[in-house]
Amino acid sequence: MSTLRTGDRAMIRELNTSIVLDCIRRHGPIARSQIAAMTGMGRSTISGIVAFLQEKGLVEPAGSGASTGGRKPEMLAFKPDRYVALGVKLQPGGIRACLADLSGNVVASAEEAVPYRDLQRVLDALDRMYARMTRDLDPDRLLGAGLAIPGLVDSSRGISVHPHFFEWRDAPLREILEQRWGVPVWIDNDARVGALGEKWALAEEGATFLFVTIGIGIGAGIVLNDALMEGDLVGAGHLGHMMVEPDGSPCHCGLRGCLETVASDAALLRYFHEAAPAAREGVSVEDVFARAMAGEPAAVAAVDRVVRYLAIAIGNVIKLLGIKRVIVGGETGVVGGSLLYQRLQERVREQVFADTQSSVEVVPTRLGNDVWLVGAASLVLDAFFRPPIYADASTVLDKVVQEQ
Ligand SMILES: [Zn+2]
Repeated sequence: MSTLRTGDRAMIRELNTSIVLDCIRRHGPIARSQIAAMTGMGRSTISGIVAFLQEKGLVEPAGSGASTGGRKPEMLAFKPDRYVALGVKLQPGGIRACLADLSGNVVASAEEAVPYRDLQRVLDALDRMYARMTRDLDPDRLLGAGLAIPGLVDSSRGISVHPHFFEWRDAPLREILEQRWGVPVWIDNDARVGALGEKWALAEEGATFLFVTIGIGIGAGIVLNDALMEGDLVGAGHLGHMMVEPDGSPCHCGLRGCLETVASDAALLRYFHEAAPAAREGVSVEDVFARAMAGEPAAVAAVDRVVRYLAIAIGNVIKLLGIKRVIVGGETGVVGGSLLYQRLQERVREQVFADTQSSVEVVPTRLGNDVWLVGAASLVLDAFFRPPIYADASTVLDKVVQEQ
């Protein structure tokens, strides 16, 4: 889908810089001779690039390595704290934000209540958050901002198409915020962004998994061989709107019988109250899981009903794409704890072919509720570390390298 750049000298230089930086990041501390062996580049090319990366504060000396006969080689390590990315999660009722270093570590975070649904006041709140997060930051250190937004997002055009909880349609948020903030901005659907955060935390080469968020809504992001899956239409990963109940109730998306109508927080509480009519109002999702852990039959039944629907949808995705790892996050995903993951794994296995059952695993996110913030920041980090070979998606690293 992306057009390739032509291979001029600038592109070759940027590409080599990107390869050396990635090699040091993934394999450091590492000696120049090892980088040469791993990348196939000449020693003098590597020395030139390493000098440039040191000058830019991206690489630093890390002591001496073992001698292989001659002088001990100088080791090099990736230095993640020279630059930071701003990650922002926009959610119903509030904004959360973080600054993350180039390894995806959160170095600062903040939260603000935003009881508005209209674009203008939400933009003003985003501006306030931007000012707060960057107040004490040297502007040269900020690579850009990533935004996680609910609902349909056209990430390639930077448009928030239909955010459900907010009142706008087709808002060109990327363009608006780039003009206001003067830094590159990326936006994407929140569950997809969570999947990207998880990919960052896993730090595996060729990672493949389905990331599912469970909470007020249900969403997903699909990572196939290290890339967040995209289709022709906006919204790849809207698991919450997979139909699981023919002739089911209407959903806020305009369809009927969606997973979100029968397996979100509201559904869980509804099932609990149906099974325990004497229970007082005001029981929280957390309470239901705590009661289920204690073996209270109404709570166990409510959790099981939700899990059954989730397993149908997740099992279908597994059969469609051949994915074996499911990672669960979202507020309820985190609150549900081991009870939720274990029951979900049992039920999902019942939905897939007998020959693949034992390979399928359902595990919790490694990042807890930070998955959103790390994910939002990783929209920027992903662009920073992407090989600079695409004409239509210039990387942030370009900007650093072009000063060479
Ligand atoms: Zn729906």
